[in-house]
Amino acid sequence: MEKKQFKAESKRLLDLMINSIYTHREIFIRELISNASDAIDKMYYKALTDDSLRFNKDDYYIEIIPDKENRILKIRDTGIGMTREELEENLGVIAKSGSLSFKKENELKDGYDIIGQFGVGFYSAFMVADRVTVTSRAVGSDSAWKWESDGAEGYTVEPAEKDTHGTEICLLIKENTEDEKYDEYLEDYRLRSLIKKYSDFIRYPVKLEVSRT
Ligand code: ADP
Ligand code: MG
Repeated sequence: MEKKQFKAESKRLLDLMINSIYTHREIFIRELISNASDAIDKMYYKALTDDSLRFNKDDYYIEIIPDKENRILKIRDTGIGMTREELEENLGVIAKSGSLSFKKENELKDGYDIIGQFGVGFYSAFMVADRVTVTSRAVGSDSAWKWESDGAEGYTVEPAEKDTHGTEICLLIKENTEDEKYDEYLEDYRLRSLIKKYSDFIRYPVKLEVSRT
């Protein structure tokens, strides 16, 4: 399998994310929930103009699934999903969220504030995860694809299995170090409070699956 490199700008943002200070790491959950919500919004609007799709509000929700034993945290949505091309385009380049152009003017020393205040997007996942796997199936497509990256080393894309349209983000949560604690992102009580804090403006249910261990 060929490993592809991130664009130079993506690499810079990744470095910023990975080295971000502790107190801002938790915002990855805000970013991933907001992406999931955006994807469901897109599904909603698509259904308005496409009679073959019926939008049933009950079928649209976001799930957060911790698996302590395997150090995995999943964020799953029933949104519009991504094709192979979209996975590569949307996750391989950082250009859309606007945080980069802002960052250029302010240089990396101000990374602290940028992370706290702005939407930094999907790459924030690398603040807490050693590996990020995105499995997605676009609505109207019967094939699913898996995008995987361990950060700076680039990413791979390969065929995958998925029963329904939507996206599942799977984070392999980092091991604790002397001064950095990551275990908390696998704890029910911590996740519950983060979801409460960061999903205020989310119009779809955000369900936390109770941990298996
Ligand atoms: P932004 O949300 O500001 O566009 P992000 O870095 O958060 O930037 O996400 C980049 C892009 O990746 C999104 O614009 C979207 O196209 C795609 N994406 C991310 N997460 C999802 C998801 N759960 N479902 C569908 N598309 C997604
Ligand atoms: Mg986003």
